[in-house]
Formats: sequence, structure tokens, C-alpha cells
Amino acid sequence: MHAHGPESARRSVLAGCTSIEHGALLDQPTLDFIAEHGTFFDPNIDLVFRNYFENKAHFLGIGNYTEEGFAQMEKAVPKALSVFQMGLKTKGLKMVFGTDAVAGSHGRNLQELVYRVQKGGQDPMQAIVSATSLAAESLGLGASIGSIAPGYEADLIALDGDPLRDITVLERVSFVMKGGKIVSPQRSQRAQRSKN
Ligand SMILES: [Zn+2]
Repeated sequence: MHAHGPESARRSVLAGCTSIEHGALLDQPTLDFIAEHGTFFDPNIDLVFRNYFENKAHFLGIGNYTEEGFAQMEKAVPKALSVFQMGLKTKGLKMVFGTDAVAGSHGRNLQELVYRVQKGGQDPMQAIVSATSLAAESLGLGASIGSIAPGYEADLIALDGDPLRDITVLERVSFVMKGGKIVSPQRSQRAQRSKN
């Protein structure tokens, strides 16, 4: 459920929704409430905003995308960050990774993860877990993807560096396996060969 404020989030939890998206205006009691009910919380704190700002000219004039709306969005950025930081300290809160990626931000999900670590102060391993096993669990797919274990889909990447030291290393993907089949580097080598 895409809910921004305390009342909409509480109602969503009570109605049985399994994950709250955004929550930029939540307070501590509501975060505790979400945690107590075992509901996932996916705070979209960076990419969705940044993408709107970068593509403002394309959005302005469509529906309720107005100057006033954009001004509201700018005010929400620091609020969303502080809710995220509150969330990090909320006991038992299942804070999952997500971006609410809209047109213009597809393929850029990692930027939100980098922001969560560098600007939000999230522990890098916790951030990676939020985007893998916890994300899978939030989708009801926790028994087949998101972890490296016998019987799971082998969806794997290898990195050129240690993302726990520098989260941006996640951009330097040197190997991709999807469902047990190697997708890359073969493809990039082939592309390299065709260039030569
Ligand atoms: Zn949304």
C-alpha cells in the first residue's frame, strides 16, 4: 500500500496489507505499530524524488504534477530521510528495499541503496539483506529467491570489490548468473569481440 502519513499507514496495516510503501510522514508510534504487526515497510526516500526532479519538465502539466506539487515533494525529501533513520532504530521493523521506480528511473535502483547507506547511515550488509532475502520474503518468495542455499534459484552476481567497505562497488558487477545459467561475462565478451 502506498501510504504517506500515520493514519493511512495504520489503516493499511489493520486492513491486512503486507507492506507499506513511502511513509515519508510517519512518526515513531506508527513505525512501532507497523513493526508490531510484522508488516514490511519500504521507505522510498531518494530515487523516486530525484527522478521527478530530473525529469520535471516532462511531468509538469500532466494531471496533478504542478509547481506546487513539486515544492511539496522537495519538502518531503528531508522528512523521508529522517523517517528512514527513525526506522533503522525501530526494534523489529522489517524495513525492506524498494524505490517506487517510475518512468525514468528503471535500471537505477542501486542509486537508492547507495543513498540509504551513504546518506541514511544504514549498515551496508543490512542494506544488501534488505534488497535480497528480506525483499524476497516481502514478496512471498522467501523460499525460492533472495538467499544462497540448496534448492533456491541460483540468481547470483559477483562484484569487483567489497561492498561492505564501499557500497558503490555494487555497480561493478563482474559476473551474473540467472537461474543457474551464466548470463555474463559471456555476453559482454561477445559484444567486445563483435566490436573488434
Ligand atoms: Zn508510490
